[in-house]
Amino acid sequence: MIESKIKSTVRDVPDFPKQGITFKDITPILKDPALCQEITAALAGRLKGLDIDVVAGIESRGFLFGPALAQLLNVPFVPIRKAGKLPYKTVQQSYDLEYGTATIEVHEDALLKGQHVLIHDDLLATGGTVVAASELVKQLGAEVAGYSFIIALEFLNGKARLTPYSDNIFSLAAY
Ligand code: AMP
Repeated sequence: MIESKIKSTVRDVPDFPKQGITFKDITPILKDPALCQEITAALAGRLKGLDIDVVAGIESRGFLFGPALAQLLNVPFVPIRKAGKLPYKTVQQSYDLEYGTATIEVHEDALLKGQHVLIHDDLLATGGTVVAASELVKQLGAEVAGYSFIIALEFLNGKARLTPYSDNIFSLAAY
């Protein structure tokens, strides 16, 4: 089963990047091409029947499976990046972190009005990052079609923050 394969492959790194956080390191997954293909196919399978025009992936680990997923779905991939990285004109969205704020952005011509956008990241924690990504999608007049993650830390209740945008929230391994 894909969930147990993911869980047995992901490496838990205690106290990274700071005390008390157990970091889910997905780099061991990347060393297993068969599992990578299985993950991409499983994500696409969960999304069957959804109307998706674009996959938007979040820097940086949303760039690992996002483009492969977009290719499998035969739709464009759009990178959402941390402020200051994208070369062309952008729209920005700031969000609160535990200490301070962060800003993400997307090219202003990355999405067309009315497009249905799947937002993809490796892991859902509090949901703050994908809420900001959802606001970027809305700023460009597009719609959130759903969310896909490899891992969801369900004890942090991130899903509750996403449902105002879309109920289509998929993940392959839950903690
Ligand atoms: P959040 O905005 O709280 O949902 O955090 C999600 C973002 O932070 C994702 O891009 C994750 O890659 C990263 N992240 C948060 N917590 C963890 C964790 N425990 N292990 C690995 N990545 C994490």
